[in-house]
Amino acid sequence: MGLKILMAASECVPFAKEGGLADVVGVLPKHLARMGHDVRVVMPRYYRVGLEQYGLKLLPGVLTVPMGIIGNQYCGVYEGRLPGSDVPVYFLEHEGYYGRAGLYEVNNEGFLDNDNRFIFLSKAALELPKMIGFTPDLIHAHDWHTAAVPVLVNTAYAADPQVGEKPTVLTVHNMQYQGNFYEGAMDVLDVGWEHFTFLGLEKDGEMNLLKGGLYHATVLNTVSEGYAREMQTAEYGWGLDGVVRERAADLYGILNGVDYEDWNPETDPHIAACYSIDDLAGKKLCKRDLQRTFGLPERDDVPIIGLVSRLVKQKGIDVLAEAMPRIMALDVQFIMLGAGEPWSHFYFGDIRNAYPDKFGFHVGYNNPLAHQIEAGADFFLMPSAFEPCGLNQMYSLRYGTLPIVRATGGLDDSVDNFNEKTLDGTGFKFRDLNAGALFDTVGWAVHTWYQRKDAMAELISNAMTRRFTWEDAAEKYEKLYHRALRKRLGERAYTQRYGKQ
Ligand code: ADP
Repeated sequence: MGLKILMAASECVPFAKEGGLADVVGVLPKHLARMGHDVRVVMPRYYRVGLEQYGLKLLPGVLTVPMGIIGNQYCGVYEGRLPGSDVPVYFLEHEGYYGRAGLYEVNNEGFLDNDNRFIFLSKAALELPKMIGFTPDLIHAHDWHTAAVPVLVNTAYAADPQVGEKPTVLTVHNMQYQGNFYEGAMDVLDVGWEHFTFLGLEKDGEMNLLKGGLYHATVLNTVSEGYAREMQTAEYGWGLDGVVRERAADLYGILNGVDYEDWNPETDPHIAACYSIDDLAGKKLCKRDLQRTFGLPERDDVPIIGLVSRLVKQKGIDVLAEAMPRIMALDVQFIMLGAGEPWSHFYFGDIRNAYPDKFGFHVGYNNPLAHQIEAGADFFLMPSAFEPCGLNQMYSLRYGTLPIVRATGGLDDSVDNFNEKTLDGTGFKFRDLNAGALFDTVGWAVHTWYQRKDAMAELISNAMTRRFTWEDAAEKYEKLYHRALRKRLGERAYTQRYGKQ
């Protein structure tokens, strides 16, 4: 039986993207719709979302959103579609909150009214069903931006005929960002100060929206099973691990899928030559092309290690910096694409100057180049400190570019370590986050490349046949929705309404 699902989020591809959250919100609903569900997405109409570009239509009427001490706020609603589908997306038009460049910040400083902006999003999402005549079976929220939704459904909106007491799912894409604000924002959220407690929205004297969502959502999930375990520990919980442990019985991990239409070496328009598992000749041409692009010696007899990433601590870039001189002592080439913390631009710029024959570095965001590195490199390095899911390692597998990863979160779940005896595996993993472990594992991979051509061929073939599809992920989300429904309605009411699932 098809479900009616309201999905509330701050990002959605192709309209507005900063991280993996946008991919899930932009792709998952299409697959759920194909399975027979009626999914509606609601998000802000950021300044960057072009009305004409996406053919957005203004709906008649105005949404009245009660903002507590601020009073009522009003917004228009534009309707569009997820490209290539009939899934409706509703865009909240509020000049004061969303009519500016940037989603969350300007010059690395979060907007000072982010509390109001996202409390507004959460409340407007719950007001929207009245306007569009949609009574959801359940509501799916994402990250701290809409973590207030489960709280509101259980409190201020509990008596609402369309959304009150509905089952809620909260997906956590990153535990680091929690939406913590001055306690006075409780008067905007307006759910009653009795919820500003240690077992509610209060954390260290502030209002913490993610904490509220973690307590109130009917079920929780994150984007890998590994991260679901890790977020219960002090190392990865960012101070909320205790709350997550309390909710462990309702917490699940679902790995994101990959868009294999975009990331396919057999059809990729960005790469020098296409190739497949049956004919890898094109990959050699891609390697040559990559060496030429970065001005490195054009050699077949040296392995290339690639890295495409935001250059930030989460991605282990500081640990890599420490290991870099030792890696440069090996007979390898290393190609890096990314932008991020300013020190890293200088540091890796210096490495390029010191090793111009070995190290290629491009500062910036460049999607075609990311594809060329996936295709032309032999290995792909991801030494992340934490990685809820991670996409690049999954792309790498498809391109026969063996991932070298720190065994954490989604990296651990999606890459199988090389077994020298059985030749099983799809990549190389290390556990400890330090330069020694990173270097040793890079060394192991490089040694394998030089000394074990048989094993390399086996690993590449294993890697290229691995698939992480959205079809699989969508089926898991469907199961999760039914868990939420069963839990909220109780066994009897659930079975009466939805039958035995
Ligand atoms: P995160 O969302 O934490 O940045 P993921 O691995 O989940 O990490 O996704 C990163 C995505 O962004 C990948 O598609 C990757 O190719 C892309 N990406 C990151 N940095 C760059 C860059 N400098 N140029 C091109 N693509 C990049």
